[in-house]
Amino acid sequence: LLMAYDPAKRLARLQVSMERAVVNARMIYEILDLQPRQADRADAKPLAISDATVAFQNVRFGYSETETILKGVSFTAEGGKTTALVGPSGAGKSTVINLIPRFYDPVEGEILIDGQDIAHVTKQSLRNAIAYVSQQPYLFEGTIRDNIRYGRPDATDADIEEAARHAYAHDFILAQPLGYDTPVGENGVTLSGGQRQRLSIARALVRNAPILLLDEATSALDTESEQAVQKALDEAMSGRTVVVIAHRLSTVVRADKIIVMQDGQVAEEGTHEALAGRDNGLYARLNSLQAPAGSTDK
Ligand code: ATP
Repeated sequence: LLMAYDPAKRLARLQVSMERAVVNARMIYEILDLQPRQADRADAKPLAISDATVAFQNVRFGYSETETILKGVSFTAEGGKTTALVGPSGAGKSTVINLIPRFYDPVEGEILIDGQDIAHVTKQSLRNAIAYVSQQPYLFEGTIRDNIRYGRPDATDADIEEAARHAYAHDFILAQPLGYDTPVGENGVTLSGGQRQRLSIARALVRNAPILLLDEATSALDTESEQAVQKALDEAMSGRTVVVIAHRLSTVVRADKIIVMQDGQVAEEGTHEALAGRDNGLYARLNSLQAPAGSTDK
């Protein structure tokens, strides 16, 4: 059984299933540890976390040399607080998130965690400090237990159950034919969208990482699942530095800080109260457009 967790085998299995799936870079976040090791700088040191404050300082970045996506982005996501990224599609919110685990490096500027430039720390220590929950949780071939353990390969069964309880997943897992040993994925049981999200949250929780990157789902779940997912997310967010691409008004309103992005720049930042009250502010305008619809804000 231990062999099943051999990283090389898991990667091979993953590659097979990724070929079948539409390859989505977002999936990669959920398996931060399984990324092939890229070389660290010779002088790279392990990241030392104190309060897990993440700071962007004048970050410029493009996916290719000919385009600039982030045009000098600066903001601070305070340790233990929730920072919500909002703004029109294409503004660069996902790109900001992509840079934190160093899937890409800035062309100019720095990203600091507790004052340390992440370009100068070991990738392993950086990624160990980060958990990610994507919009579309990806389940691998394997059991429910395996799927949670992807978050931390050395997690014990007790760790996995604890994470599942905190993610409000334990009860529905026990209701499956083989409990934690129930196969999921293409050849396994079919789980609802809300159940998949809670498994993905359990996977993030088992990492016990101080920084949580969250791409909030846009698709509406039924009210009951929505509430369970929200409770699970509240558990996951508590006490962590959270950077969330927020789609729900309730998340934005509760955030400690809102970063409004537009065209690769930070257009405004502040709390909901401060930004909503600005005459002709971008946030105030976005907010007045979103609020009456309320469709994604259950
Ligand atoms: P959305 O809310 O639609 O996800 P966003 O604010 O998150 O938008 P990004 O996804 O960061 O914006 O996209 C900013 C720009 O970067 C877009 O022009 C997009 O096409 C481009 N882009 C995003 N991801 C990649 C990628 N992996 N490779 C190349 N270009 C990308």
